[in-house]
Amino acid sequence: MPRIQLLSDQLVNQIAAGEVVERPASALKELLENSLDAGAENIGVELAAGGTKLIKVIDDGIGIEREDLALALHRHATSKIRDFDDLQKVATLGFRGEGLASIASVSRMTLTSRFNGAAHAWRIESDHGRLHDAEPAALAVGTTIEVHDLYYQTPARRKFLKSDSTEFAHCEDMVKRLALANPDKQFTLIHNNRASLRVMRGDVLKRCAALLGDEFAQSAVQVEERAGPLRLWGLAGSPTLSKGTRDAQYFFVNGRFVRDKVIAHALREAYRDVLHHDRHAAYCLFLELDPEGVDVNVHPTKIEVRFRESQAIYGFMLRSLTKALAATKAGSAPAGID
Ligand code: ADP
Ligand code: MG
Repeated sequence: MPRIQLLSDQLVNQIAAGEVVERPASALKELLENSLDAGAENIGVELAAGGTKLIKVIDDGIGIEREDLALALHRHATSKIRDFDDLQKVATLGFRGEGLASIASVSRMTLTSRFNGAAHAWRIESDHGRLHDAEPAALAVGTTIEVHDLYYQTPARRKFLKSDSTEFAHCEDMVKRLALANPDKQFTLIHNNRASLRVMRGDVLKRCAALLGDEFAQSAVQVEERAGPLRLWGLAGSPTLSKGTRDAQYFFVNGRFVRDKVIAHALREAYRDVLHHDRHAAYCLFLELDPEGVDVNVHPTKIEVRFRESQAIYGFMLRSLTKALAATKAGSAPAGID
């Protein structure tokens, strides 16, 4: 048996990257969540070759101080939580401090940032986790991150990537998820130098219409239910409209896109009697509850959550949705958002 050794930081980050950065869309998620956590109002995304060649995110958030630039790329370095208490009530999208370190370990990354109040920006480059010295740069207040050649030096991982168009579709869906959850922010998406998405600030229901299509918006029913600390709201697609795909299923818990068994089950049950069995429901729904009632620290990608009182959530969801969908059967007016 060889002797036990500590793994190098770079290797640790690359192992973590396997979980956090499954594909370009997951790297994009980490970058976009950072921009939102930094209070950005305008977020621009530029991709090349489905994100495999380039993922660039430009934000006008608070920026990163020069002294913190290198630290931002370090594993377990975060400005978002300080102690276990904070972890119990996370209000930011990120908190694990491993997003940038993971991505940087499997790509060439350039991080340029100008902190609010700084005279100019600073840029730092990382080549697969090896940092270069910071250099002065020109940039308005905010942060721009470029990720080049994701997984270029990790062929085992790279070969799991699908075609550029499939990877792009995942990236586009990721932008839509975050745009739906943050209607007060502006998002633009450019792929291979062509504009592909542009969502302006506005009402969340209007944004649903813009991102899920007119047919959805015009026939969907508006949901608005409360029970104690629980609130469910948004648009539930009419059973008659649903397409045969799962493309239009957006569910958010406290502003975070999630996939959860309890929620999926409640949705399936609510739609069961009204939806033809070979169809999928379309919806864009938001569940809000006390942050202490939900654990988001279940998996590095934070797409899974665990509810403290999952039975109560299930019951509330089922009652609310059944009521809303009954309205479609009774022929009452749909939300009719245009
Ligand atoms: P986490 O988001 O979990 O804190 P990350 O590795 O994603 O970990 O980011 C590390 C730190 O870098 C963040 O806590 C934040 O302070 C800083 N940071 C990252 N991206 C941005 C950004 N776009 N604007 C401002 N600060 C950022
Ligand atoms: Mg992060």
